[in-house]
Amino acid sequence: MADKQEIYDVTIIGGGPVGLFTAFYCGLRELKTKVVEFLPKPGGKVSMFFPEKIIRDIGGIPGIAGAQLIEQLKEQAATFDPDFVFNQRITGFKRLDDGTIELTAATGETHYTRTVILACGMGTLEVNELNHHDASAYAGKNLRYTAEKLAEFQGKHVVISGGGDSAVDWANELEPLAASVTILHRREEFGGLESAVTKMKQSSVRVLAPYSLQHISGNGDIIESITAVHTETGAQEVIEIDELIINHGFTIDLGPIKEWGLDTEDGRIKADRHMRTNLPGVFVAGDAASYESKLKLIAGGFTEGPTAVNSAKAYLDPHAEKMAMYSTHHKKLVVQ
Ligand SMILES: Cc1cc2nc3c(=O)[nH]c(=O)nc-3n(C[C@H](O)[C@H](O)[C@H](O)COP(=O)(O)OP(=O)(O)OC[C@H]3O[C@@H](n4cnc5c(N)ncnc54)[C@H](O)[C@@H]3O)c2cc1C
Repeated sequence: MADKQEIYDVTIIGGGPVGLFTAFYCGLRELKTKVVEFLPKPGGKVSMFFPEKIIRDIGGIPGIAGAQLIEQLKEQAATFDPDFVFNQRITGFKRLDDGTIELTAATGETHYTRTVILACGMGTLEVNELNHHDASAYAGKNLRYTAEKLAEFQGKHVVISGGGDSAVDWANELEPLAASVTILHRREEFGGLESAVTKMKQSSVRVLAPYSLQHISGNGDIIESITAVHTETGAQEVIEIDELIINHGFTIDLGPIKEWGLDTEDGRIKADRHMRTNLPGVFVAGDAASYESKLKLIAGGFTEGPTAVNSAKAYLDPHAEKMAMYSTHHKKLVVQ
């Protein structure tokens, strides 16, 4: 029951970069805030896919590694001590008689809140694992689904299976430090920036396309070789490896949130210019949001988050100021 648990002013679903900054801004507006995240750590797609990549399109920050940006966002969010809950996927939404919203996680836990900000990207992220009977035996050893720590590949013979932008980026990043990098892709065309694909093709990266990964062979502890097969001729090649990186895409899904009665388009939640959804008291920010001229960048979410918070504040208190004061004027933030 709601009266037995704390009721928050705002519950942010998603602890990605936008959820973290939104939590900070909730603090500026003196809103009691909780962030619920499905993954065991914050950072969303940044932590999952490009922690070591340098992000260069956030105003005032000429370049920052993804992981460092998340560290700084965590520090900023902590200014006002929001509560964080990890390892919970929010699935259920119910409005109680007194207007309080009850959110339920897949694990069965409940959260009570007056408003919700959906900063859930396009949903929970799960990598598409290698479809091979031995894959689980080697996962986390020398079969990986991301190239999180580049230094671990120093001097190694690396095979990357996949042709998306992350696969191309990893090939380029690993090429200077690995003993060899081979990328195999079932189509001739690669995803990602043209300049990145050109750079990869002009480097020492060995490009096998159109090839697919047919077999992995190992000693039970590590994979020792893989078999690649030409998708048209059937020609096979056995390649000895130290590391295998699989980049076969990921599944991203709003899941049961789609059943809440929200207006959606292309897997995102429709927002008006106040970041309101069609459900009263439910707002949206970041990759989750859909509206005309939506900027699908972290910087876009850093505006939408505060707008959603201001809308939540107005929903809770129609007499409140429409916007926060400047952070430079905030009593907790002013350096004496
Ligand atoms: C390879 C790659 C490179 C990129 N490079 C750049 C770049 O250089 N610059 C840039 O600005 N942008 C870049 N982006 C885009 C950027 O990552 C996104 O715009 C940004 O991550 C959006 O942040 P978000 O917090 O809205 O969503 P996300 O990062 O997707 O985070 C959403 C979080 O919500 C959680 N979640 C979802 N559903 C639930 C639920 N039901 N319950 C609990 N938790 C839930 C997820 O687990 C996730 O952690 C890149 C993206 C990729 C894939």
